[in-house]
Amino acid sequence: MLMTEKSSKSKDKKRDKLSSFQIITDQRNIKFQNPRKDVHTAEMIISGCGWIDTNDGVVLIDTLMSENAARMVYKKIHEISGKIKYVIYTHGHVDHISGCKVFMDDNPEVIANKYVSERLDGYKMLAQHRNRISAQQFNLPESNMEKMAEEISSNWVYPTKTFIGEMTFSLGEKTFELHSARAETDDACWIWVPEIKTAIVGDLISGVFPNIGNPWKPTRFALPWIKALEEVRAKEPELLLAKGAGIACQGDDVMAILNANIEAIRSLHDQVVDCINKDMHITEMIHAVKLPDHLKDNPYLMSLYSKPEFFVYNVYRWYHGYFDHNPAHLLPRPEKEVNTELFNLIKDPNKILDRARELLKQKQAQLALEILDVLIQADPENIEAIKLRIKILKKLGSRDYCLMSRNAWVYFINKDKEFLQSREQSI
Ligand SMILES: [Zn+2]
Repeated sequence: MLMTEKSSKSKDKKRDKLSSFQIITDQRNIKFQNPRKDVHTAEMIISGCGWIDTNDGVVLIDTLMSENAARMVYKKIHEISGKIKYVIYTHGHVDHISGCKVFMDDNPEVIANKYVSERLDGYKMLAQHRNRISAQQFNLPESNMEKMAEEISSNWVYPTKTFIGEMTFSLGEKTFELHSARAETDDACWIWVPEIKTAIVGDLISGVFPNIGNPWKPTRFALPWIKALEEVRAKEPELLLAKGAGIACQGDDVMAILNANIEAIRSLHDQVVDCINKDMHITEMIHAVKLPDHLKDNPYLMSLYSKPEFFVYNVYRWYHGYFDHNPAHLLPRPEKEVNTELFNLIKDPNKILDRARELLKQKQAQLALEILDVLIQADPENIEAIKLRIKILKKLGSRDYCLMSRNAWVYFINKDKEFLQSREQSI
């Protein structure tokens, strides 16, 4: 799931007013491109799809997020290409599979990694939780999310044919080699079409810093991700479709984007492994692990969706249990209980408020937030503490252009504002 690079690069003044990044599923925002005469892409803000013409019909890769958008693409495919014979899901994220119902009018085979069905079942099982975290990650009203999620999931099309490992089929004059992978998800599939030296890699490449870490989601797969990208690179593609299949890379850009992603993932992964072996605490690790200097400003690795700190947490969780080797944390008491004990020792809320204000002034907003949390956990309705937390969160979000963290700051600012309004307090 990704923003377009172009839209997310515009660090205009509006952003500094700390608005969230919103998902736009309006079909008017679809951008169609035609990187080769027989290859087409459709790109939206957070999702993309592509299709390949053969002399015996069309192979569609991914299906966008909404039925409205899918309908536009369906119409376009029938105007310029023909009937859809196969749909391939690059993975089971909802922005890749949710428009499929529209394309079923052509009665295509729907092919996917074997684990896509399991993912969709899991989404249904965790619907309430997923609505909550989607509201935080994308900063949409929770009531809307529930309605939207219900509508979308009732239309999901499960794969009609699944595979694991490799699978090949031919249509017309072209061959489609499908490879399963674990990367952003455990149900990924990338596709190689040898006759036109084209690779379609789903979200293995997204045009920005790879989505290996997400604070709300299960662990992703750094090492197998590298392996999959190395296999793609070994094919020496002339054309690479990424982000679903919505963006196209050609010429020297193909190797440049592959190399940047492989090198970044390898470097960050190996640093985390080294830190784990040295028994560094995770809260130190997220500040210690960095992208190598020569990759920091790489145009393909901008932290506009995920960021290296989230990557570190993810790889840590993949290899490491929850226990951080502090005996106080093996079977901890609820944090509210511990913070209430601490607060009862401090006694005076002003001591905490003053110190948090001081830290904020000293540009230590995160530390201020954590110190203030002792008071908020002990006294969740402390008006002064909530007002101060809004200021701190605004500071944290003010220059944060990463969608996930920025939207989290804005979400919790809004929650605190709602609380103050409910107590008829000015903000
Ligand atoms: Zn994805």
